[in-house]
Amino acid sequence: MDLNALFKISHGLYVIGAKDENNRWVGSCIDAVMVIEVDPCQIMISLGKNSYTCETFLKTKALSLSVLPEHTPFNTIARFGFQSSRTTDKWKKETLFEKEGLPFLKNACAYMHLKQNTVLETATHYVFLCDVISCVAGECDAELTYNAYQKNIKKKEKTMTQQTKWICSVCGYVYDGETPFEELPDDWVCPLCGEPKSVFVREE
Ligand code: FE
Repeated sequence: MDLNALFKISHGLYVIGAKDENNRWVGSCIDAVMVIEVDPCQIMISLGKNSYTCETFLKTKALSLSVLPEHTPFNTIARFGFQSSRTTDKWKKETLFEKEGLPFLKNACAYMHLKQNTVLETATHYVFLCDVISCVAGECDAELTYNAYQKNIKKKEKTMTQQTKWICSVCGYVYDGETPFEELPDDWVCPLCGEPKSVFVREE
């Protein structure tokens, strides 16, 4: 099986949001979204079972979906895609708006309010058939495709990461871990002096 074949089925990138039982906003970056039909308006999304957003959506049945624009910063995708809402407030650093109690990313290409209709369980994922309660197109009309993310945003970030050093401004420790510095969790601390991630400065 050449799994590269799967990437030839083109799709976009999306940020979904939900409100957990503690009234906390959670969310994820996903790529598996498909329009099933227009009348009644239904779309299908697939979420990994380990995802806290998936766990939340199973219970609360309400979800926001923001269609990411082509100029989405790498950090937004990394935060929503590589961290867990169990430990991180992913929405804290984003410009957002609230509708029906759910968070949406501002400046997205489109916004949808989804309600869970039918759930299909696979070995590793839940596949949700959702009713679109409301949807609106945003001002940005150039959406980010998964392919463009791989080719442009991720590649550029990798090159930048290889060229830059992250240095602890308190003790001078130079980060040399395998995980890109931006993808380290917010509660990561300097292994030398114990100061938080926020004291690190980027040196070109
Ligand atoms: Fe330090």
